[in-house]
Amino acid sequence: MPQLNVVPFVSVDNMMKLVHAIGIEQVMVELAQRIEDDFRRWESFDKTPRIASHSDVGVIELMPTSDGQTYGFKYVNGHPANMRRGLQTVTAFGVLAEVATGYPVLLSEMTILTALRTAAMSALAARYLAPKGATTMALIGNGSQSEFQALAFRAICGITEVRLYDLSTDATAKCARNLAGSGLRVVSCGSAEDAILGAQIITTVTADKQYATILSGNMIGPGVHINAVGGDCPGKTELAGDILLRSDIFVEYPPQTRIEGEIQQLPADHPVTELWQVMTGAAKGRRDARAITLFDSVGFAIEDFSALCYLRDKLATLPFCEDLDMIADPDDPRDLFGMLLRAKP
Ligand code: NAD
Repeated sequence: MPQLNVVPFVSVDNMMKLVHAIGIEQVMVELAQRIEDDFRRWESFDKTPRIASHSDVGVIELMPTSDGQTYGFKYVNGHPANMRRGLQTVTAFGVLAEVATGYPVLLSEMTILTALRTAAMSALAARYLAPKGATTMALIGNGSQSEFQALAFRAICGITEVRLYDLSTDATAKCARNLAGSGLRVVSCGSAEDAILGAQIITTVTADKQYATILSGNMIGPGVHINAVGGDCPGKTELAGDILLRSDIFVEYPPQTRIEGEIQQLPADHPVTELWQVMTGAAKGRRDARAITLFDSVGFAIEDFSALCYLRDKLATLPFCEDLDMIADPDDPRDLFGMLLRAKP
């Protein structure tokens, strides 16, 4: 029996050690597999759009789900202006709990884990949707998520070249530096138009709290796959509306994506395809070589559940956690007060 009053905690430091012990790309390959396995059993999960608390500068969200055995949630924020204060745009932590007792069984940092799982999810979707033989990806937005995206597409989709663009040349230089030696050919570009030249896959992963136009209609020709990651909140999108009308649109969980994704720009009955159905074979992915496919990524609770379960399983053989004294454990379960009294100094 595991000791239920002691909760394994994965700090940022331990998360980094764990990722390096396994290998960054290998973690994303394994995460993609785990997410795919869970998407294939989609119907066994409790699902709800995430619970968002908006402010003028950002959003704080809770993302819960359960498969009846295990419950999980992630706390995550999105504050595009944080960057100017020297803070991360996105930070997160998460919990797994045992449904049978309601006791938490894992607490983990999820800022790094979110970047890994988002990139794994993007590349997994692209494996079903991108044109066959795609080798080049434009990567627009070169902030925290960007290198993870590049490496996941290399490891999972066989991308060999990334073409970088960011409003900030410092961000692009940082991304290029971090990807040096990764095996990817890295090309830094001076505009989004330049970045998409020759790219079969276009990833947008910018942060701005507005209806931005990172890609306009005239930039998108037939046969590309768009991985739109940055538009993930009401009033925060990246693509011009006419691109959406020309695309076959794939989403995680429609009730959440209709609120948060690029498709918030479209009527509520505009057809979209759920990715889990593509993965089970119930729905078609890419129709033909000329179709424009769009993964309207917002990030869904099941992906975080998969990531936390993956982490829990890795901790069975890897030592990268510490015990947290987080759950009160009186010898007599009725005598919580007595336990407190006896602790009086
Ligand atoms: P970040 O702030 O570290 O990086 C964003 C980058 O975008 C910055 O370098 C900024 O200069 C650049 N940028 C902003 N406007 C631009 C424009 N018009 N053209 C080119 N570049 C521009 O943020 P991050 O942590 O990398 O996250 C990026 C986005 O991804 C955020 O919007 C975040 O909310 C979203 N996100 C989505 C998911 C998901 O599952 N879909 C998961 C994590 C993060």
